[in-house]
Amino acid sequence: MKASEYILLSTFLLFSGGTPSARRSLPETQASPGAQKEAAPNFKRIDPRIEQIVAAVSEENLSSILKKLESFKTRHTLSRTDSEAEGIGAARQWIFSTLKSYSPKLQVNFDTYQVKADGRRVFRDVELRNVVAVLPGARQPERQILISGHYDSLSVADGPPDAPNQDVDAVYAPGVTDDGSGTAAVMEAARILSSYQFDKTLVFVAFAGEEQGLIGSTLLARKARAQGRLIEAVLNNDIIGSDVAGNGYRENMAVRLFSDGPEDSPSRSLARFIHDIGSRYVPAMSVKRVFRADRFGRGGDHTPFAQEGFAAVRFTSTAENYAHQHSSTDTFEHTSPPYVARVVRVNLACLAALASAPAPPRVDDPKGPMISRGKSGYDALLRWAQGSEDDLAGYAVVVRDSTDPFWKQEIWVGQVTEFLMSDVSIDLFTFGVKAVDREGHESLVSAYVIPSRPRARVETKQLASQRDHLNFLVGSRLVGAGGMNRFPSKVGVSVLSPAPN
Ligand SMILES: [Zn+2]
Repeated sequence: MKASEYILLSTFLLFSGGTPSARRSLPETQASPGAQKEAAPNFKRIDPRIEQIVAAVSEENLSSILKKLESFKTRHTLSRTDSEAEGIGAARQWIFSTLKSYSPKLQVNFDTYQVKADGRRVFRDVELRNVVAVLPGARQPERQILISGHYDSLSVADGPPDAPNQDVDAVYAPGVTDDGSGTAAVMEAARILSSYQFDKTLVFVAFAGEEQGLIGSTLLARKARAQGRLIEAVLNNDIIGSDVAGNGYRENMAVRLFSDGPEDSPSRSLARFIHDIGSRYVPAMSVKRVFRADRFGRGGDHTPFAQEGFAAVRFTSTAENYAHQHSSTDTFEHTSPPYVARVVRVNLACLAALASAPAPPRVDDPKGPMISRGKSGYDALLRWAQGSEDDLAGYAVVVRDSTDPFWKQEIWVGQVTEFLMSDVSIDLFTFGVKAVDREGHESLVSAYVIPSRPRARVETKQLASQRDHLNFLVGSRLVGAGGMNRFPSKVGVSVLSPAPN
C-alpha cells in the first residue's frame, strides 16, 4: 500500500456493516506542525534482509540434524549420561557443541536443575539440562524473543511411561518428529540468525523433561518470571515433522498455531502477528490459527510461559500420526524434511521481524487501560506511552468488531501518542496500537483490554416487611406480561428468576 493511501485511510475510518464513519481529529497539543502530512513508513513491504534469512533455511542441514538426533537411540530425560554416542547426555552435549560451532556471537549454556523423583515419570532424582543459546541484541538487549523445541524423547511401546525403574536405556525412542523436528528448528534458527545482528536478544532453547510433564520449560519460565526477564515472545515448535496423518490425511502446506486466550491475551496478539508476517514471507504456507492452548489432552512447552504471563504459542503439524508418536517408529523415515523446512521458514521470518521491531506500545497506566470516551463522552480516545527507540517512525491503530477474531482496520496515525475517533463507541469495537520503525518493522499489537472486575461483595439481610413485598411481586407481577420495569429496580433484582405459571 502506498503512503498516499495511508493518509487517505487516516482521514476516514470506514467500518464495514453500516456503522458510522469517524473523522480523525488529532488534538492541537499532540499534533506537531506538519504531523498530519507526515508520510507513513513503507511498512507491509518485504524486508530484503528477512527474505534472505528465510531463503537460507536448508533442508539438507535440517535432515542431517534429524538423523543425528535419531542416532542417539534414546533421548529419554532419565537415560544414560555416561556415553558419547547414546542417551540424553550425548545428545545434549552434541546440541551444545553444534550450537557453539555456528558463531562465536552465540552464548551457549546448559540451564541445569536437580529434579527430585516424583514417583511417576521421574522415577529417580535426575539432573536436567535445557540447552540455551543467546544472541544478544544491539539496541534493546533486555527484550528477548525465544524459539524452542524439546530434545528429550519417549517411547511407550515397551511399557507404560509411568512404570517405575523402567530400563529406559534399553528402549528405542528415536523421537525424530516428536520433537527432533522442533530441536532442528531451534538449531537451524541459531545457525542462520547468528550471522546477523538484531535490535532485540534472540534466545534458542532446547528443553528437556517435556515428556515428564513440561519440566524443563516450567523451571525456565518460572526463573524468567522471578528474574523479571522481559520475554516478548515464545515460539514453541513441537511435532513439526509429519505431513501424513494416521488416517491418510496429507497436508504439507499448512501448520497449526495454538494460542491460549482470552481473546486479546499476549499469546493471541503473537498468533495474529505470526499469521501476518508468516504469510508475507512464506506465502505458500498457511498458518492455521487455533484459539486454544493446545490439542485436547496434550501439552507443550509454550504453556508454562503463557501461564507466567508471557506471549507464547505452539507450532504443530496439521497431520499428526499418533501411531508414531512416543514410539520406536518415530523415525527419520516417517518425518518430512521439506515440511520441517517450511515451518522453520515461517518461524525465521517472525523471529527476525520481531527482533527488528520496536517494543509494543504501553497502553496501560496505573489507573488501567489508556482508553476513554473523550471530552464528549461519546468518542473513542486512545492513548499510549511514547516509545524510546531512536528509529521510531510512529504508530498504527488497529480496530475490529468485538466479535471478530482478527483486526480488520489499520490506520497509520504517525508520531503521536493519542488518537481520537469521533462518535466511535469504545464499547462496541476492540482497539489496539502498534509501533513502527523507519524501516517498516512493526511491533506486536498492544490491545486495550477491560480489566476483570472483582466480584461484588454484597451483604443482605431480610426483614419481615421485605419478605411480604417479595411474595407480592412473585404472586402478582411475573404472572402478567407487563415486564419488570414497572417495579422498583432495587427490589426487582431479587426476583428476576422466572416465576412458575
Ligand atoms: Zn513433543
